Amino acid sequence: MFFIAGSIPWTLVLDETSTCYRHSQTKAAVACQRCERPICPECMTQASIGFHCPECVAGHSQTVYRAQDIMNRRPPLTTALIVANVVAFVAQIVSQDLVTEVGLLWGPAVQDGELWRIVTGGFLHSGLLHLGFNMYALWIFGPNLEKGLGSVRFGIIYAAGLLGGSLAVLAFGFTQATLGASGAVLGLAGGLSAVLWARGINIFKTSLSAILLINLALPILVPGISFWGHLGGIVAGFIAGTILAWLPQRSGVSESSARLIGFGYTAALLAGAVFVAVG
Ligand SMILES: [Zn+2]
Ligand SMILES: [Zn+2]
Repeated sequence: MFFIAGSIPWTLVLDETSTCYRHSQTKAAVACQRCERPICPECMTQASIGFHCPECVAGHSQTVYRAQDIMNRRPPLTTALIVANVVAFVAQIVSQDLVTEVGLLWGPAVQDGELWRIVTGGFLHSGLLHLGFNMYALWIFGPNLEKGLGSVRFGIIYAAGLLGGSLAVLAFGFTQATLGASGAVLGLAGGLSAVLWARGINIFKTSLSAILLINLALPILVPGISFWGHLGGIVAGFIAGTILAWLPQRSGVSESSARLIGFGYTAALLAGAVFVAVG
C-alpha cells in the first residue's frame, strides 16, 4: 500500500444519520475538514486535504464546532489491528524469520493443508518500510471508516480485503510467495469508495481514485509487489462496502440484514480461497 502524503483522502465519514448543517433535510456525506460540521455532497469543495464547507471556503467560519463525539471516539479495532501487525513483525525478527516461513501465503503450502497461511500472510511484512507504509495507510483509512460505520462493519471490510487479496493471489499467482497487509488496507480504500458512492459522492472527483490507481500501477512498475494481492483487496473491499453501506442506504435492506450478508460474503471469500488452493 502506497500513497503520497498530500493526497490523503482525509474525508471523515460521519454517522449515517447525520444531516447537512446547511440543508437539514439532506443526509451528510462527510465532515468539513476545517470546522468538522457535517456537509452534504452539494456543499462539499475538495481541498488539498479532505473537503471544506461553503463557509470555510469563503473564509467566514470562526467557530470550531466539534461535530459529534463520533469524531473523538477511539477506533478500537484499527488500534488492535496495528498492534497485531507490529507484534507479528517483532515475532518475525525474534524468530529469525521462522514465523515468516511458516505464515506467509504460498499456494503449494496451502494446497498441502497449511490453510492458516490464507489469513496469516496478511499480518506479516518483508521489512520495516513495508510495515511502515501499510500501517500508515491503515492509520489514515481505518479511523475514518471505523468511526463512520462502526467496528463490526469496519472489521468485515478489512477481513474481506485481506481474504480477497489472498484469493486473487492463489488464483492467479499460485507459486508466488506473498505477504503484507496491503490487500486488507487497500480493501479499506475500496470499501471507503463504496461508502462515499452510497452517499452520493463521485469518487473520481476525489483523491481516492488516484490512490487506487497508483496502487494498481505500482506492482507493474516495481518488482516484488503483488498486483493480484492489490487488485483482489480493492475489489473485495469495494464489494463489502457496497453490501454494508450501499444496500442499507439505497435499497431498503435493513442494516442488520446487510451485516449478515457481509458476514456470509466474507466466509465465501475464505471458502473460495481454500477451494482455489486445495480443490
Ligand atoms: Zn467548514
Ligand atoms: Zn448541504
